[in-house]
Amino acid sequence: MEPNKKAIWNGIIREYRDYLPEISNGNIVTLNEGNTPLIESTNLVDKVGNIRLLFKFEGLNPTGSFKDRGMTFAVSKAKEDGSTAVICASTGNTSAAAAAYAAKAGMKAYVLVPAGNIALGKLSQAMIHNAIVMEVAGSFDDALDLVKEVSKNYPVTMVNSLNPFRIEGQKTAAFEVCEALGFAPTYHFLPVGNAGNITAYWRGYKEFKEKGIVAGLPKMMGFQAEGAAPIVRGEVVEHPDTIATAIRIGNPASWDGAIEARDESGGVIDLVSDADILAAYNLLASREGVFCEPASAASVAGVIKMVERGELEDGDTVVCTLTGHGLKDPDRAISEASETIKVRPVMDEILAVMGFGS
Ligand SMILES: *Cc1c(COP(=O)(O)O)cnc(C)c1O
Repeated sequence: MEPNKKAIWNGIIREYRDYLPEISNGNIVTLNEGNTPLIESTNLVDKVGNIRLLFKFEGLNPTGSFKDRGMTFAVSKAKEDGSTAVICASTGNTSAAAAAYAAKAGMKAYVLVPAGNIALGKLSQAMIHNAIVMEVAGSFDDALDLVKEVSKNYPVTMVNSLNPFRIEGQKTAAFEVCEALGFAPTYHFLPVGNAGNITAYWRGYKEFKEKGIVAGLPKMMGFQAEGAAPIVRGEVVEHPDTIATAIRIGNPASWDGAIEARDESGGVIDLVSDADILAAYNLLASREGVFCEPASAASVAGVIKMVERGELEDGDTVVCTLTGHGLKDPDRAISEASETIKVRPVMDEILAVMGFGS
């Protein structure tokens, strides 16, 4: 048979070319990222009432987070510029994506991660894709300062979200949401770390509106972790702290973009506690069958908080971005879940556990 063109997804650059800066075909570096599902929530009515809640599950991208959308473009542009190496600071997912796309491009990747604060899955990805991984005895913010300096003075392309092509690539997630729904949602909730993603979604929604593809715009609802909430508090947090390591950031690179998204859309940037984040993380896994990483669950914790405050109304269409896959952080899952049950290979013991014992 002939290949079914409709069944082939060519990655966000080829699929959304008309909406992105130009790039020549020969320089496109893709792992066919994007086209992630918008999953209808069905089992959280007791928590969120009768809003229509949907999860944009970005954990199903090639390296397991939304970072792939921006990285395909940043690395493709680096290739077009003749660059042979990329560098980033990362709480984990950016380094995983940078390492994978650099491998695909035949480039070197240097990644700086905060020592001791990177989830195991993410570290393993950067390492197996052959990046040079530097564990910095400092924070993410320290690492980013160093990366900016290096990329200014040496022939290496910075692929943090300060790289404008990252945001361009990431805005395609908003396009996908609109296309899946047939309209823009009433609200869009997402976790906020460096605030690149909220900036990107807002840009994407606005572009679809300007082009007349959708009639409305969502209110942008960003959620930071309580111990890492510089935008909410209006000042840099020197020692950010949260179990949601992907948003453990004290001085967001796209701070202004987040403020703009909030104010232009009539949304909010608020915070949720680690306890709220973990409760949402558990709910998603145990009731919805969706395993995301803790930072991702900040979006759903935010929805629950807003419902409790009476901010959302029945019938509202609410999209939550689940930014990364739960397998990124297996240690957290195991420490949160109930214990396994040790049995001998004996039928009676199995049946007793199952409640079928006599
Ligand atoms: C990077 C990341 C975030 C934060 O996104 P920003 O664009 O930095 O605000 C949230 N969740 C996960 C899983 C991430 O990898």
